[in-house]
This record gives sequence, C-alpha cells and structure tokens, in this order.
Amino acid sequence: MAIKINSYSCTGCGTCVLLCPSDVLRLDEENKATPVYNSDCVSCRLCEMSCPFECIEVVIRPFKTAAETFPVKQYLLGLGVDPSTLPGVSTH
Ligand code: SF4
Ligand code: SF4
Repeated sequence: MAIKINSYSCTGCGTCVLLCPSDVLRLDEENKATPVYNSDCVSCRLCEMSCPFECIEVVIRPFKTAAETFPVKQYLLGLGVDPSTLPGVSTH
C-alpha cells in the first residue's frame, strides 16, 4: 500500500486529515497533507474519495481488500458527515 499525495495541488484544507479513521495523515509545515503513520493505514481510501481536489491516490496491493469491507458510509455518518456531500464517496 502506498499513499501518493500531489503536494502541488493540495490546498491544505485538512479534510483527509480529519476523516482518516486511522489518524495516518497530518499537515506539514507547508500546510500540505502527508502520511506520517503509514503502517496504521487500513487502505479504506476515504482520504482519496474525500479530497475535493483529487490530490490523493491510495495504491492498494490486489490482496488487500479493506476498501471493500471498511464501513465508510457508516463511519462518516458516525462523525456527523453526510457522505453524499463528499466527492467520490459512494452512497449505495
Ligand atoms: S483533502 Fe486534499 S486538498 Fe485537502 S489537505 Fe487532504 S490532500 Fe490536501
Ligand atoms: S486509505 Fe484510509 S486509513 Fe489509509 S490514509 Fe487514507 S483514509 Fe487513512
């Protein structure tokens, strides 16, 4: 698994940092998102799906299927976030 972040496009909005269920991401001194606890990543791809500027790509090895099993919609609802307001997040 690798978390690729396009620092040029990142605006530092913090959405990915806020929503990551494993607390993997931080904003660095230049206000760019960066993964700091990679080993805690559960490959849910919520950061990728929620970034308003499509800055993040989570590359998942084929045998890791957490993105299919992690309850993204339920997790967001638990935070009080309407999944339908986030680009790329399936509401089905
Ligand atoms: S959601 Fe996207 S634009 Fe916002 S901090 Fe994360 S990578 Fe940057
Ligand atoms: S894929 Fe999920 S666990 Fe990994 S950094 Fe993104 S939001 Fe966090």
